[in-house]
Amino acid sequence: MAAPVIHWFRRDLRLADNLALAAAARSGAPVIPVFIFDPAILRGRYFSLPRLVWLTKALASLDARLGRQDARLLIRHGSPHRVLTELAGQTGAAAVYLNRDYTPYALRRDENIQRTLNIPVYTFDDGLLHPPGDVLKPDQTPYTVFTPFKKQWLALEKTPSVGEPHGCFMPAGGLSVQFGGVPTLAALGFGGDFKAPEASESAASSRLEDFLAQRIGSYSAGRDRLASDPGDDTRGGWSFMSPYLRFGLISPRQVYWAAREAYREAGTPESRRSVEQYISELIWREFYAHILYHYPHALDGSFRPEYDALKWRNAPDDLQAWMEGRTGYPVVDAAMRQLKTMGWIPNRARMIVASFLSKDLLINWQEGERFFMQRLIDGDPAQNNGGWQWTAGTGTDAQPYFRIFNPVSQSQKFDPDGDYLRRWLPELRDVPPPFIHAPWTMDSPPRDYPPPIVDHAFARERALAAFGAARQNQGNAR
Ligand SMILES: Cc1cc2nc3c(=O)[nH]c(=O)nc-3n(C[C@H](O)[C@H](O)[C@H](O)COP(=O)(O)OP(=O)(O)OC[C@H]3O[C@@H](n4cnc5c(N)ncnc54)[C@H](O)[C@@H]3O)c2cc1C
Repeated sequence: MAAPVIHWFRRDLRLADNLALAAAARSGAPVIPVFIFDPAILRGRYFSLPRLVWLTKALASLDARLGRQDARLLIRHGSPHRVLTELAGQTGAAAVYLNRDYTPYALRRDENIQRTLNIPVYTFDDGLLHPPGDVLKPDQTPYTVFTPFKKQWLALEKTPSVGEPHGCFMPAGGLSVQFGGVPTLAALGFGGDFKAPEASESAASSRLEDFLAQRIGSYSAGRDRLASDPGDDTRGGWSFMSPYLRFGLISPRQVYWAAREAYREAGTPESRRSVEQYISELIWREFYAHILYHYPHALDGSFRPEYDALKWRNAPDDLQAWMEGRTGYPVVDAAMRQLKTMGWIPNRARMIVASFLSKDLLINWQEGERFFMQRLIDGDPAQNNGGWQWTAGTGTDAQPYFRIFNPVSQSQKFDPDGDYLRRWLPELRDVPPPFIHAPWTMDSPPRDYPPPIVDHAFARERALAAFGAARQNQGNAR
């Protein structure tokens, strides 16, 4: 029998449309599916218990899916270089196949493994429709503005999806190694719990189908509505694909091609516009991945260096109130409590709470970025950094710094009846709609809900002055 090859699963926890896995299968060698818990990530600054729970559920479903082909997922814990070297020795594997990960840590790790492992490592571009380096300006430099990036991205030819490989996996019984299954949180050294939604390839596909059948046609209007349940088509207008894309339970090609099909079937100009907008959001995901690849400094400071001089407030109590959803602004508090419970909040809610932290409280956006990474099941360094810098006004194609969200009017506009607020803030359950967005304006506000932590009009002026001064300092320094 030919020497086996290893497919190292990382952010591609699926069998269908997995480019490295398909190539490993095409090699004709039996494929050993492997996942490695990397202690550098488990102990890293972006560690998140909710995301770890989400990941372990995804691994369990991948293992079960492999089981239908008489295979098992080989799960190990340790430095990937050491684990792969050991596994190659134990199994006689002749090569490793993997899909590239474009974040700075993963790039360094993979480059080292490729250079030093004593068997070949074959790498594939799978996690984006167009990898970094493919979407460049005519002078071959990266785009830092979204609209021209998008135009160029749309003009490039797209790879079709590939099917699920069958009959290529090394039968579990044929390997004299220990399997052990998916470790518990305790076995990985963590306590606590989190209730995650179903994390499987089939859950990802059925959610996408449901979105395409019910909501994509009204995505433009629906995506900003504040609602809690992504499955409720009368309210939330989004797809809830981000957690599945995060660990590759679905591929971006599968989502893109399905959206293109929806475009062909769209019957009205409004539904066609909606599908276009959905595809545009998928391109934002690619844009931010490219930005971080080309400008890794963004992970440690402002993309625009002038804002590194900004005088942020050191206000630990305010930061704590924001984290716990006790700012006295219902829309901010509802979103932060949803984040705690679900490990996910809609894009509009992310923008509102990020603006509140970085502008109203004038607290460094990096505090919020870190907190989001600790909480989000879809937490992704490139997307999260891009979203925070955009909202704080320090990023690439950023929202101008003088645009500051008003938490009351945002709430009135995107949750007019206050249903989202009532769902997450039981203290406000009996407050009628006109007051629920600003309960402090009532004659007798609910006693168990805090007054606003800061006056928005005052905070707005304070933020404008601080951002303006940072820009001016930079101007003087030139
Ligand atoms: C402060 C802040 C932090 C964020 N952190 C993350 C993060 O850690 N991980 C993450 O995946 N997204 C992040 N986003 C982007 C966006 O909020 C989520 O991708 C989106 O809310 C996910 O829900 P959905 O899948 O239902 O999106 P949909 O509206 O259904 O969009 C479909 C897909 O398009 C992509 N997308 C949508 N909006 C954006 C956007 N603004 N930027 C980039 N890609 C987008 C996502 O992959 C998403 O799954 C952040 C945004 C902000 C403002």
